Amino acid sequence: MAPLVDGWGREIGSVRVSVTDKCNFRCRYCMPADGLEWLPHAELLTFEEIARLVRVLAAMGVGEVRLTGGEPLARRGLPELVALLSTVDGVHDLSLTTNGVLLDRLAAPLVRAGLTRLNVSLDSLNHVRFAQMTRRDALDRVLAGLEEAERHPQLRPIKVNCVAVRGFTEIEVPALAELARRKPYVVRFIEFMPLDADEAWRGDEVLSGAEIRALVEARWGPLVELPTKASSTARRFRFADGIGELGFVSPVSEPFCSACDRIRVTADGQLRTCLFSRREWDLKGPLRAGASDAELEQLIRHAVRHKELKHRINDAGFVRASRSMSQIGG
Ligand code: SF4
Repeated sequence: MAPLVDGWGREIGSVRVSVTDKCNFRCRYCMPADGLEWLPHAELLTFEEIARLVRVLAAMGVGEVRLTGGEPLARRGLPELVALLSTVDGVHDLSLTTNGVLLDRLAAPLVRAGLTRLNVSLDSLNHVRFAQMTRRDALDRVLAGLEEAERHPQLRPIKVNCVAVRGFTEIEVPALAELARRKPYVVRFIEFMPLDADEAWRGDEVLSGAEIRALVEARWGPLVELPTKASSTARRFRFADGIGELGFVSPVSEPFCSACDRIRVTADGQLRTCLFSRREWDLKGPLRAGASDAELEQLIRHAVRHKELKHRINDAGFVRASRSMSQIGG
């Protein structure tokens, strides 16, 4: 079958599937303190519907599947979905992004079901500051979840994602960088993006990847850049002495849209061709109306032909995405 290619000639190889908009954290760069109005359960794609979409996408060469939320582990029975997806022909990489608070209990069943990679959000190793950012006193649970994940060698790499916010993250950098040196985790710093539901994001709150690298290098000396695949969102670095790896996802200061190979499916079955899309393509309606695989394929190909070239965060008159982060899934 022909690969899935956008209007700019980029081949799509990765899909991020949000399985719920609900989350049990209230991270300041994402969610208001009171949460958001959640989608009714009937509006969420069922596991079978998700597996069908992934099958249609995998047939077009989209072999990387990442499960996201809200908080995906808050969706009951998630290991069952992982088991369904891990048997889909053409899916060669199945990963999950989680806040980690339920990981201590679910890591083993997820691995048994076929999960191969893991991203865990962690913005601070200080209890008070962790609670300040997430509005949850849950650092110990998240660290316990990471330790449990470590016990499963099939689950590699384990990436720890820290959202970098100016005025908050600078003092977290040494401890998080140290974590990458003493644990089998790749610690990644992700620039704060204008996807917060409070719409309070300001450009001067972005702590850039380059600034964080400078903080690390001031302590540990020059970092050594590692090769990555073109469509990767992160620049990878190792410490000069070879102990530990860091990643920098810098969509604001170092956009990586030119080689973007990602699309997203929201928890309520809308196809988003870019994180910052202002337009969506309904897949749930056709799915529930009995569309054939061929019809779904044509719908997806049509949507992807309209995929945005890039985000416009740094452009004058930038208009925010039509949904906030927790409603897209990152
Ligand atoms: S902002 Fe859009 S085009 Fe750019 S990398 Fe992200 S999803 Fe791709």
